[in-house]
Amino acid sequence: MSVRVRIAPSPTGFAHLGTASTALYNVLFARQRGGTFVLRIDDTDIERNRPEYELLIYESLRWLDLGWDEGPDRGGPHQPYRQSERLDQYREQAERLLTDGKAYRCYCTPEELEAERKQAQLEKRPYKYSRRCLTNPPAGRAVSAVRFKVPGGEVTFTDMVRGEMKFDADLIGDFIIIKSDGYPTYQFASPVDDAVMKITHVIRGEEHLSNTPYQLMLIDALGYERPIAYAHMPLILAHDGAKLSKRRHPEANLILFREQGYLPEALLNYLALLGWNPGTPQELFTFDELVQKFSFERVQHAGARFDWEKLNWINGEYIRTLDDSELARRLQSFLPNLDVATIERAIPALKTRMHKLAQAVDYLDYLWSDPTPPVLEPDTSERVRAAIDALKDVSWEPAAIEAALEKAVQQSGVGKGKFYTPLRDVLTGKKVSLPIHYTLALLPREIALFRLQRATNPPD
Ligand code: GLU
Repeated sequence: MSVRVRIAPSPTGFAHLGTASTALYNVLFARQRGGTFVLRIDDTDIERNRPEYELLIYESLRWLDLGWDEGPDRGGPHQPYRQSERLDQYREQAERLLTDGKAYRCYCTPEELEAERKQAQLEKRPYKYSRRCLTNPPAGRAVSAVRFKVPGGEVTFTDMVRGEMKFDADLIGDFIIIKSDGYPTYQFASPVDDAVMKITHVIRGEEHLSNTPYQLMLIDALGYERPIAYAHMPLILAHDGAKLSKRRHPEANLILFREQGYLPEALLNYLALLGWNPGTPQELFTFDELVQKFSFERVQHAGARFDWEKLNWINGEYIRTLDDSELARRLQSFLPNLDVATIERAIPALKTRMHKLAQAVDYLDYLWSDPTPPVLEPDTSERVRAAIDALKDVSWEPAAIEAALEKAVQQSGVGKGKFYTPLRDVLTGKKVSLPIHYTLALLPREIALFRLQRATNPPD
């Protein structure tokens, strides 16, 4: 039996961090088992779907190098892979259930259903559809949805994270599988596709755990083979412990990580550890190591809180292990104003300070913009002049500059901090910069000296 897994993201907003995490676990498992990874687009919510969001899903998964074997853009033996293109299939399957008496048409209006729900609330009992349309359908109505007749009893399944699961289906009311507009509900389309596409393991977020009994009852009713097992992965919580909200939490938006200069391989490493632990202190893993070591038994059950500090640490470590030329290549899109040679010269200094690529912009923007000269106190101005003297005849590269400045610091009688801070300010307009000798060496000598001189001779 060959393993087949899938993700089924909905193109209803920007690409979500949860999609990356679910995709990662699916890919790790597929690779471990030499299986197939399917990308299915769950686009049955016609009001909220946008093609550009679908493109964002592709783009972000490609950025993370989480490639799929079958999908809308690549085809495959079970195409189409966009649910909106499979509507006939869902209708056909629903017809089958209707014919077999396993589903029935429901003519209830939203108002009538709301009234039922309110009544249940009033009587303090959990709400379940009354089955009015099964036992006593109202006559003369044209608009109908299709409801699944829940067989009840116990639904059990294996969850690779949580073990053997048991749900009491007597608590589940008959639910809608085809809406009155003819579209399937998620609860119907998803298991139909899982079964038809021969998905063997359904690996998805914990928010879907309670959907599984619904979906298994449908798979059983349709006479399909069930997936072998499910795995419900812990929810990712925001840094403040709240549910990830697209509006309030930047960490929800996958594209933002790229914009900020997180390396895709570092983000994957971080995501693997968010919810799973190897049982050893190791924290940095190549992708192949993750494939070897990942196991569902070591996935935590509780929600996993996003930790920027840890991600930044991991990303910094990845940045430091990149070859200088590779790092320069990755920095290019962040620094369109600089040529590669300049970027390469900055790299030894950047590497010691950066935990994300976008920081290079803050460190280097003084190279293409002219900072406003600060007003210097007389004794500070004096020290800047001493620096100019020290730098005048020095060979223009970091080591020589450093040696010359250190000498000037010694002669000045103040500490390095006090001597260098105004230099940074004059050269970059900032209090924090790359090490001072790099800050200087990266500027052409004339410009560096011009900025220093200008600050010591402010116009009246
Ligand atoms: N569209 C659903 C989601 O993105 C798919 C859930 C599933 O994997 O079944 O959460």
